[in-house]
This record gives sequence, structure tokens and C-alpha cells, in this order.
Amino acid sequence: MKLLIIGCGGVAQVAIQKCARADGVFTEILIASRTKSKCDALADKLKNTAKCKIQTAKVDAENVEELCALINSFSPAAVLNVALPYQDLTIMEACLKCGVHYIDTANYENENTDDPEWRAIYEKRVKEKGFTAYFDYSWQWAYHEKFKKAGLCALLGTGFDPGVTQVFCAYAQKHYFDTIETIDILDCNGGDHGYAFATNFNPEINLREVSANGSYWENGKWIETKPLEIKRVYNFDGVGDKDMYLLHHEEIESLAKNIKGVKRIRFFMTFGQSYIQHMNCLQNVGMLSTTPIEFEGKQIVPIQFLKALLPDPATLGARTKGKTNIGCIFTGLKDGKKKTLYIYNICDHQQCYEEVGSQAISYTTGVPAMIGAMLVCNGKWNKAGVYNCEEFDPDPYMDALNKYGLPWVVEENPVLVD
Ligand code: NDP
Repeated sequence: MKLLIIGCGGVAQVAIQKCARADGVFTEILIASRTKSKCDALADKLKNTAKCKIQTAKVDAENVEELCALINSFSPAAVLNVALPYQDLTIMEACLKCGVHYIDTANYENENTDDPEWRAIYEKRVKEKGFTAYFDYSWQWAYHEKFKKAGLCALLGTGFDPGVTQVFCAYAQKHYFDTIETIDILDCNGGDHGYAFATNFNPEINLREVSANGSYWENGKWIETKPLEIKRVYNFDGVGDKDMYLLHHEEIESLAKNIKGVKRIRFFMTFGQSYIQHMNCLQNVGMLSTTPIEFEGKQIVPIQFLKALLPDPATLGARTKGKTNIGCIFTGLKDGKKKTLYIYNICDHQQCYEEVGSQAISYTTGVPAMIGAMLVCNGKWNKAGVYNCEEFDPDPYMDALNKYGLPWVVEENPVLVD
């Protein structure tokens, strides 16, 4: 089974190592990205431990023709997109043209939010949907009929959140509840990298997400909040007390569609005071803007310039100590009685570093990316059309999480979030 992996950043480097070292899963991997030297360095690092053949290539994932030429020259069963959400649609187009399955970890986002054509569609969707986030599933869900007709599977958002959190929802629905009434997704990073400010994954994507309005889904509609307006404190197993803030997050949209009878879905992420102060300051001075400005005769995009100044998330592994705890708290009904449940994973930054040379945020995203690609390729999670993770049988995925480094815990009667 051959897999083409696009991207060679923080998340990709974990996914690639896991794919390459998994026994009997892939026979050949092609790593292709914008900067080929990163692919070559990783292939070199893997030369003594890989269980499959590895090749590398350079590709611009925004160019469908270039992608098609690469896919046709390698003939993979599927393409795993671990580049950026900006490239989702071009890679999906290329998969359709070449007849191969598609897998990603984050939903489509337009890099240039000032593009008038995109903006017109966005403004219309804001009115229809009730949230103002720059990303939503409509762009990728629109490909469902095309993938179905082609007999191809597109698996969207198989990271941790989105991804594993939705598999936890499907697992709770299958094994513990007749009706799930509320879902709180809690994403806690108790790790410390020692910098005053750095992001754990791509700074541009991370800062756009956190500085945006929050929102949650309740009784069939979206309720939008100001950025970081809703704050709670929660005591996380393995980490301790942490401040967490309500954010808009993409899996809320698909869970609201696919978990029948759910009344409320919220997403909380933990942040320290230093992170928030720096982010607010950078936003206030315009450094988070995606609109190009002229500087000394050159056009620069402020947030891209900021990215160049910040530490590369792929280099944080050696310095980051502590644990993450990410999971979902459910309330609902089983056999007519009220029930509460918490399913979560604890991941240790230093253990991840020892295994793959990365911190836990890249690890907790890269491992599920590998699992999603494996399940699509071996047919256990493969149906024609475009699907989110909660639309498949959760059991093989949950088994794979235990096997490939992200064991999970089920806790009855957890402390709830008010
Ligand atoms: P990085 O910025 O570290 O890596 C992105 C990679 O994509 C780089 O190798 C980059 O190349 C490559 N790339 C960018 N543009 C192109 C292009 N046009 N053509 C080819 N390659 C390109 O990002 P992360 O690893 O932090 O994030 C990867 C993905 O994971 C993102 O989509 C992010 O949103 C998602 N994510 C998902 C999470 C989840 O839980 N679901 C959590 C965290 C992240 P170059 O080296 O030249 O820059």
C-alpha cells in the first residue's frame, strides 16, 4: 500500500515517522513538500528504522497540475494532506482527477480573507450559519457527490481536535448512551516550552483561530461570543488546575450535524496569561493581520512576518515539559437514566520527544493522521464520499490509538463544566 504525504512541518514529521515505522501498514511512502530539504532530512533520519521504502519530492500543493503529475508518477492509494488548510481544496481536486483517496487534519481556510470573490461567499455564509469564523465545512462538504460518484473516500479532520474528539463522541454514542445531550470538548496543554510566547502548531493558523470570536452550538443554533469572553477553570488529570477559554472550533459544526439529539456542544482550550497578553498586544498593533502592507518597497503580510520571528513549532520538542490532556465530557441518557462520562488522553511532551523528536501537540495530531490514513487505505474506514470522523465505526480507531501511542481513559461521573 503506497501513501503520498504532503507537508513536512511539525505535524507531518510525526505522521511520517509513525507511517514509516508501523509494521505491515505501508509498503512505500512519498514525502512531498514545498521545501524538499526538510523531506530529505527526515528520510535520512528514518533510513535505519523505516519498515517501508521512502522517496521525497518537491511540490507546490496549490498547483493542481503539479499535484496530479506527482500523484500519477507514484500511484498511491491515498494522499495524506498534512500541509496547511489553505491547500485542502487543491489537493482534493487533484485526488479526484487522479482517482485516489484523500485525508486531512484541518478544514479549508482561505489564506487571503480580502479576496473579493471569496469574501462574497463568506458574507453570505455568515448570515446563513451564524458564526463568523473564516473556516467552515461547506467548502469541503460540497465535494461529497463528486467523491461519491468517483468511488473515492475523503476523510476530513483526522487530528486530535478535530479528529480523535469526534471518534470519542462516536464511541460514547455507540457504547455508553442512547442519547448524548451535551458535549464539552476540553483541550488542555499543561506543557511549558520556556519561551514568553510561542505557538505549538503553525502560528498563522493558531493565532487566527484563538483571536477570533468564540461560539458554541445550543438548541439548534450558534451563539457567538467575543474572543476569549467565556472562561472556566478545570482540574485536569495529570496536569492540575488550568484556565480554559471557549473557542469556535470546526468539529462543533460536524458534530451538530451528525450526533442526533445533541442539545449543546462547546469547545474549551487552556491558555496561560503570558500567551494571552502577547496575543492581545500583537493583535492591537496589527501583527495578526493577513492583509498585505507595503514596507520599504515590498509587500509583506504582517502575520507571515510574525511567523518568521517566532520559534518554529517543530523545534519546541526538546524544551517542552509537562503533559496534555484532551478529551470530551458527555451528559445524556442511557436506559432512561441520566449519565455523565469523560473520555480523554494524557500525553507527555518529553516522552513524545524521546520517541519522535517532537512535542505533544504535533504528536497528538500526527498519530491520528497516520491512523486515519491507515484505516482509509486498509478499507476499515472507507466509503465513497466526504466524511468526518464521527461518521465511521469508532472501534478500530480507538484500538489503533491504544496501539500507536495515544491510550485513552473512560471516567464515569466526572466533574462537569458549568
Ligand atoms: P507547519 O507550518 O509546521 O507545516 C506546514 C507544512 O506544509 C510545511 O512543511 C510547509 O512547507 C508545507 N506547505 C505549506 N504550503 C505548502 C504548499 N503550497 N505546497 C507544499 N507544501 C506546503 O504546520 P503544522 O505542522 O503545525 O500544521 C499542519 C496541519 O495540521 C495544519 O493544517 C494545521 O491546521 C493542522 N493541525 C491540526 C490539529 C488537529 O488536532 N486536528 C492540531 C494542530 C495542527 P515549508 O516547510 O516550506 O514551510
